[in-house]
Amino acid sequence: MIPSAFEYHTPTSVAEAVSLLEQYGDEAKVLAGGHSLLPAMKLRLAAPGVIIDINKIAELRGVVINGNINIGALTTWSTIEHHGGLKSSCSMLPEAVAQIGDIQVRNRGTIGGSLAHADPAADTPAVVMALDAQIRVHGPGGERMIAAGDFFTDMLTTSLEPTELITAITCNPLGAGEGAAYVKFPHPASRYAIVGAAVYVKLAGGTVGACRVAITGAGPKAERQTATEQAILNTDGSAEAIAKAAEEAGAEMDVLGDIHASEDYRRAMIKVYARRALTKAIERARG
Ligand SMILES: Cc1cc2nc3c(=O)[nH]c(=O)nc-3n(C[C@H](O)[C@H](O)[C@H](O)COP(=O)(O)OP(=O)(O)OC[C@H]3O[C@@H](n4cnc5c(N)ncnc54)[C@H](O)[C@@H]3O)c2cc1C
Repeated sequence: MIPSAFEYHTPTSVAEAVSLLEQYGDEAKVLAGGHSLLPAMKLRLAAPGVIIDINKIAELRGVVINGNINIGALTTWSTIEHHGGLKSSCSMLPEAVAQIGDIQVRNRGTIGGSLAHADPAADTPAVVMALDAQIRVHGPGGERMIAAGDFFTDMLTTSLEPTELITAITCNPLGAGEGAAYVKFPHPASRYAIVGAAVYVKLAGGTVGACRVAITGAGPKAERQTATEQAILNTDGSAEAIAKAAEEAGAEMDVLGDIHASEDYRRAMIKVYARRALTKAIERARG
């Protein structure tokens, strides 16, 4: 299939990209790795009149760990997967990313593109929510930070304005007593999540002092599981406490069924994967 005709721009700075977005508005689409946008254009599900290819903006690439973790929007999955500093400071990120698609997808796909696309079965929305990450965006009015928890508003929909560009994702490195884990039930062909669970925990004196649980793949968008979080807080994080808390997962969530898995099956898997991710995160927090 051949996409419809479009104008093609290759800005070399964030300011230039934002000015093009402002000029063309809804007519324009940003091109990063192209792994979601190009298939949609070839199927004519998307027909932007203008493509703003951001691959020449060098400042959008790479990982900097300097007090906090900054990941440029154009950083590919393979860079994150193999980054030594991320493995030691926030292992859930490389762990999750290593489970995405295949090597070709991981060599081209970018974290900014995935978050902007907000596919309901993507892995990183749950991961950034569990890490309480901030999404840095630039628009005509300057820079703003959007908390990951406020970013995903519906299926394939975010709080990003059409004139805004994601430039980076920032989060804190994990320290002593903290642990995080991502586990998923992958679709056997695409590897997208049928259900994925991301968990962050902080232990305080042997009990769970803080916890964030996010589920992806099961509904229109990734969702925090506050009932599970409340249930595990102030417990000893034992297998019994984890099992009880995981039973609450999915309770407040709009769960969807499709040709890959029914709603009931996904609801059952949410509990299983929440339990597995909680177990792994708590084990890691214990060191
Ligand atoms: C076969 C296959 C298997 C896959 N398996 C998985 C999987 O298992 N798990 C998973 O999570 N993902 C999976 N993906 C998705 C892949 O990981 C890509 O990350 C994702 O498609 C989007 O990233 P991209 O860089 O290719 O974005 P693009 O396709 O270039 O862009 C996607 C959308 O985001 C917008 N955009 C891109 N960058 C920015 C930016 N910086 N600021 C604002 N808007 C922006 C574009 O305009 C477009 O609307 C798979 C994809 C394929 C093709």
